[in-house]
Amino acid sequence: LAADFSNLKSEVTMVNNSEADWFHLDVMDGIFVPNISYGIQIIKSIKQYAKKPLDVHLMIHKPERYIKDFANIGADIISIHYEATIHLHRTLTQIEDVGCKPSVVLNLTTPVSVLEDIIDKCYMVLLMSINPGFGGQKMEEITYKKIEKLRKMIDTNNSNTLIEIDGGVNLKNAKKLIDCGADVLVAGSSVFKSKNPIDTISELKNIN
Ligand code: ZN
Repeated sequence: LAADFSNLKSEVTMVNNSEADWFHLDVMDGIFVPNISYGIQIIKSIKQYAKKPLDVHLMIHKPERYIKDFANIGADIISIHYEATIHLHRTLTQIEDVGCKPSVVLNLTTPVSVLEDIIDKCYMVLLMSINPGFGGQKMEEITYKKIEKLRKMIDTNNSNTLIEIDGGVNLKNAKKLIDCGADVLVAGSSVFKSKNPIDTISELKNIN
């Protein structure tokens, strides 16, 4: 979302050449979140040049309608919001059936406990650390506690579920997020708006 869309190919190349592990793509429908971002066509173009997995974050109402379409254009991980689908189990199965890795996203005020009975089925849980819809926002403090609770749940279940954090991640808060138990950090503005994105990614990757 934070990339320069008039220069998408060079932005994709930059990420290819960086230490980043995945491309994180924010799809917004103007209903589930107030903003509209981009959809199938843009991701198809990114896929042409991307040399790393596509982590597709669907901020759309009733995502079950589009799982197949995103799988067909090369999504590797598909993240759907807990709040956007009525039958979470069915939608996660749908994602598995098309050969993608299923991931569930929780909004800021959705408690992690709602995932207790389905954690084993989640390749990843994405915790929103801002109110989704726009880039460039400041991370909310509540995130740290939520990561710790989720980490406990995952460890208690002996599951391999990854914890991903999305929203306001930067060089200042990354270490604390990792210390609380996060596995995957999404960085938008803090990377793309920095002087040297490749260096910033490298700094983020080498925090320990
Ligand atoms: Zn996202």
